[in-house]
Amino acid sequence: MDITLVQDGPFRFRIDQQDPMRVPGIVFATRDLLPQAAGDKALEQVVNVATLPGIVRASFAMPDVHWGYGFPIGGVAATDIDDAGVVSPGGVGFDISCGVRLLAADIERDPLAPNMRRLMDILGDTIPRGMGRGGLWKLKGRPQMDELLVGGARYAVESGHGVPRDLVRCEDYGVLDGADPSQVGQRAVDRGLQQVGSLGSGNHFLEVQAVDRVYDAETAAAFGLRPDQVCVMIHCGSRGLGHQVCTDHVRVMDQSLKTYGIRLPDRQLACVPVDSPPGRAYLGAMAAAANYARANRQLLAEAARHAFAVATGVDVDLVYDISHNTAKIERHEVDGARRRLCVHRKGATRALPPGDPSLPEDLAGAGQPVLVPGTMGTASYVMVGTTGNDAFRSACHGAGRVWSRHQALRRVRGEELRSELESQGIAVRPSSWRGLAEEAPGAYKDVDAVATATEGAGLARLVARLLPLGVVKG
Ligand code: 5GP
Ligand code: MN
Ligand code: MN
Repeated sequence: MDITLVQDGPFRFRIDQQDPMRVPGIVFATRDLLPQAAGDKALEQVVNVATLPGIVRASFAMPDVHWGYGFPIGGVAATDIDDAGVVSPGGVGFDISCGVRLLAADIERDPLAPNMRRLMDILGDTIPRGMGRGGLWKLKGRPQMDELLVGGARYAVESGHGVPRDLVRCEDYGVLDGADPSQVGQRAVDRGLQQVGSLGSGNHFLEVQAVDRVYDAETAAAFGLRPDQVCVMIHCGSRGLGHQVCTDHVRVMDQSLKTYGIRLPDRQLACVPVDSPPGRAYLGAMAAAANYARANRQLLAEAARHAFAVATGVDVDLVYDISHNTAKIERHEVDGARRRLCVHRKGATRALPPGDPSLPEDLAGAGQPVLVPGTMGTASYVMVGTTGNDAFRSACHGAGRVWSRHQALRRVRGEELRSELESQGIAVRPSSWRGLAEEAPGAYKDVDAVATATEGAGLARLVARLLPLGVVKG
């Protein structure tokens, strides 16, 4: 497909609307960040998404955009529920509510140094990861699973895994409304029973980091961050349960396309109207899987706290927990009218500006923390939502891949990568050499450039830069 990009600003490109697109495409990036890796069809996917029934304003791509299932990763699309707008599982992704949680420890990197090895050993021994190695919290059966699917991180805290203050610092206070466990199939439940409190595979991680630079001291202080402070970043999602929910509902939607008269340029965009039986069924199941992901991160945070308590005796507070694979019902103004939209963010996070009523009191003046992991060998960023974000208040979710896993395996050997990272002072606790190699820093875009472009495009502002001290890899 021939795609013409028109540059609208230093960090903004436009793909003009033409049949069968219903809206234009807007790509926030620099030339260097545009998807150019061989075979990366991300821009074609931006165009495909622009054809979806009910889509409004534009099909957006964040600076970390790259190729994904149906929708690009780093894609944002909103559909008008009251104008036959659709919901598409491909616009959420298989790892429903995958996300990032940042914790701040009450210690700086130098005083931690003597205990760092011990801390990493405890984390390496206690954080479940890799395929099918079980989780920290074994659920007793379907009734307890249903409670967790409805209650998310709140259910975990109420069950003794964390403190009430944690929930204040979670998107949606740790619970996505509208969960319908009856739409989560038995196979999904069976896959999920033993995995609450586990990282999963390669791209997921628990990383000990230090604040390397603060760009905005006031906002950093509101988030509970200070220079040289030690942090923990946790990246994981809804494990086998979320994957199975996506698989099951994609199948149903694929069979329902004809019923709703939906024609698509790519079957991976399978979708149905939000306001239809299969649409409601998916959103109920998706919210349930999202709550599973949120409880999962809550359990891993508890394990990180425990490791810090044993190794250093210091407290660890939650900065924020934000998902980057969701479809949410939100109200936004479009063409002068307030509309009920289904906002798909796939590999993109919500980014609320200061003063937004959904923010907790202690973040209302600052805005919502936007968490941007980089790689295990480079920086990661903390940003904050800004006013004037026209991508339905969304921002990037990471650096974004440039090499496929296969390409990474051809170029990198896990053992060598580990020695390289260790020689830079980064402790590595891998779960497999293969997994480590697939996630080599070279496999991703330059996160500094992604963060700069995200700020330049007006999507979010820089608050702090974090550097890795040690990583527990999925
Ligand atoms: P995704 O959810 O798309 O799999 O990953 C989100 C982002 O996490 C990636 O785009 C990448 O930038 C980042 N990432 C992957 N592995 C690591 C890691 O080990 N450490 C850090 N800090 N970031 C990572
Ligand atoms: Mn994930
Ligand atoms: Mn993720």
